[in-house]
Amino acid sequence: MHKLSIKQLSDGLHGKQFSSRELTQFYLGRIARYEPSLNSLITTTADRALAQADAADAVIAAGTAGPLTGVPLIQKDIFCTKGVRTSCASKMLDKFIAPYDATIVQKLDAAGMVMLGKANMDEFAMGSSNETSWYGPVKNPWDLERVPGGSSGGSVAAVAAGLAPVATATDTGGSIRQPAALTNLTGIKPTYGRVSRYGMIAFASSLDQGGVVARSAEDAAIVLQAMSGFDPRDSTSVDRPVDDYVAALGNSIKGLRIGLPKEYFAEGLAPSSRARIEQAIEVFKKLGASFTEVSLPNSPLSVPTYYVVAPAEASSNLSRFDGVRFGHRSETARTLEELYKRSRGEGFGAEVQRRIMIGTYVLSHGYYDAYYLQAQKVRRLIYEDFRRAFESVDLLLSPTATDTAFKFGTNADDPVAMYLNDIYTIAANLAGIPAMSLSCGFADGLPVGLQLMGNFFDESRMLNAAHQYQQATDWHLRSPKGFE
Ligand code: GLN
Repeated sequence: MHKLSIKQLSDGLHGKQFSSRELTQFYLGRIARYEPSLNSLITTTADRALAQADAADAVIAAGTAGPLTGVPLIQKDIFCTKGVRTSCASKMLDKFIAPYDATIVQKLDAAGMVMLGKANMDEFAMGSSNETSWYGPVKNPWDLERVPGGSSGGSVAAVAAGLAPVATATDTGGSIRQPAALTNLTGIKPTYGRVSRYGMIAFASSLDQGGVVARSAEDAAIVLQAMSGFDPRDSTSVDRPVDDYVAALGNSIKGLRIGLPKEYFAEGLAPSSRARIEQAIEVFKKLGASFTEVSLPNSPLSVPTYYVVAPAEASSNLSRFDGVRFGHRSETARTLEELYKRSRGEGFGAEVQRRIMIGTYVLSHGYYDAYYLQAQKVRRLIYEDFRRAFESVDLLLSPTATDTAFKFGTNADDPVAMYLNDIYTIAANLAGIPAMSLSCGFADGLPVGLQLMGNFFDESRMLNAAHQYQQATDWHLRSPKGFE
């Protein structure tokens, strides 16, 4: 049952082969059985889920159900869920019960989906390995000694292990795509502004984008369709109709022009990952796509640019956690200044504090021009690289990560080595374009991901290219041993 696609689940529900309550109980049973070995969830919401499932069953009985009615999912714990703890994996918000729902929570609830729980993640989405969570690291179901990637590590571990058919995720510099790559999933970060950020706890507002991780491009398309759209409560939301991602999945990719950015295939890429990606390119060629080399000359600047822009925005966004209005409050403070310092010192983990310090530094008087302003200028150049590339190609194809999943503690003493994990994913956030990762095989038993990047609002074309590839291959159908 946990290997069925969303479409198959939906057919089963509509055909009364099983009820949403049965399906929900089935997944809650898998969570009870496998979750202790994974730590992929911060909160399980069984009662809420069963109530939603009963409501979905009533809608199905009334004959007014949609394609997602009664289908379970897991929400990343960065999305506010009314009446349910929303922690962002931080001690700071361990006791925070959100008073309202994020727009995407509202939308997926309205579509009839059943929320099983809230996924573990890196604290405030800062990380590439899920080791910064206050609730402890998440294990990769493909090898429990390895990381699932981050920051959406709980979302991917849960879906890869079959604890839910699909999960939401967010991507500021790669947090949907890199974990999807490390766990054999399909993850899509849509165009900036396509999915509402209302109720999504902000990390770096000009880069953050919600999306989905799933077992196939088809599943991802169905859920993304329901999540997307204009939201007047998010001032950066784009008022433009959502394409029919699902309908576009039938298109041929004959004549599709795919660019290979040469900077993304330079040294640093593991030879076994390169080999898998080259095999995937042959599959795309057989399907009728043509390939040309392109250059994104400012690519080497994307990681340093991101690590100025993202911490700057984070330092500003996280200033709201002051121990006064909400979040952790120190019990030992005697003065107001001590209250701020101790609440933040106790509530935030080391990586979050590091980012806040970098951010306040680059924004401070005297350094602003040298760092922040300069980074914004380089960001523009990175955007221009993509704009030029998309004049001659429809999509770009690259690796998602430099290598397969690494062992816990690998980069523990070296934040910069950890930051380099996002070398292929960050530029898409800086430019605002849509990008996704899908599995293209295995190296030593561990999944390898490839990345597709598209032009603004070209999610349909990208999802369909991934879908056509998945029709011709079966990598995405494999699941980890021990979670049968
Ligand atoms: N790994 C990157 C970081 O640590 C990206 C995180 C993200 O996309 N949320 O900032």
